[in-house]
Amino acid sequence: DLKMIYYVTPTYPRPEQVPELTRLGHTLMHVPRIHWIIADDQPICSDQVLIILRRTGLPYTHISSPKPYVYRGSNFPRGVANRRAALSWLRDNVQEGVLYFGDDDNTVDLQLFEEIRNTKKVSMFPVGLIGDYGISAPIVKDGKVVAFFDSWPGSRKFPVDMAGFAVNMKYITSAVTMPFIAGHEEDRFLLSLGLKLEDIEPLADNCSRVFVWHTKTVKFKKPNLKMNIKKLHELPK
Ligand code: UDP
Ligand code: MN
Repeated sequence: DLKMIYYVTPTYPRPEQVPELTRLGHTLMHVPRIHWIIADDQPICSDQVLIILRRTGLPYTHISSPKPYVYRGSNFPRGVANRRAALSWLRDNVQEGVLYFGDDDNTVDLQLFEEIRNTKKVSMFPVGLIGDYGISAPIVKDGKVVAFFDSWPGSRKFPVDMAGFAVNMKYITSAVTMPFIAGHEEDRFLLSLGLKLEDIEPLADNCSRVFVWHTKTVKFKKPNLKMNIKKLHELPK
């Protein structure tokens, strides 16, 4: 039987939230044996998010954990408090399956799920549309990950994006955590797993194919209502 995939999505309120989650939800509805964990960056779970979750008909968990007040501005660690809450829920409730961190604005090919479902410890694969190089990918030689192609190595042992790996739940012990350090969330998380380079299972045809993209939606600009009213007055009577 198929292993369950736990798809962890941090999310926060903004005009683009409902369309992003609707699109992602409609992708996940095509996937067998998937449990969607939405981790709300809010003091309480939002109704509009819950409505989307319910309408998918998928097994789900909706938890909330707002970011600490200090993390605002532009370069703050995004989605950490809520991903941590998801990790703690998983530790308490789930023994087996595969964990994947899929942000609310990413784009996923259904093939990704077939790739990650049998992850033994940690699997990795390329992420498209990211950074200055346009791609972040493990470099594979003779079937083994030997290095990483990423435009921001940043003194990281594992310079990968959050969407570029999956983890077997067996390894999500109490030692596993994610730090509030912008840019180092993935690396520190993988280090806390005790991951070694030789443990990594390369997927997606030895990391030569892209099944997930780090897409970004252009920020919605508030409509200028004053302008519209003026235009309305200009209409011929
Ligand atoms: N996020 C969040 N709280 C925030 C900002 C972002 O929970 O204050 C979530 C967001 O919904 C997404 C993930 O964290 O699922 C990564 O954020 P974003 O897509 O803005 O960052 P980027 O993809 O540019 O790293
Ligand atoms: Mn994003």
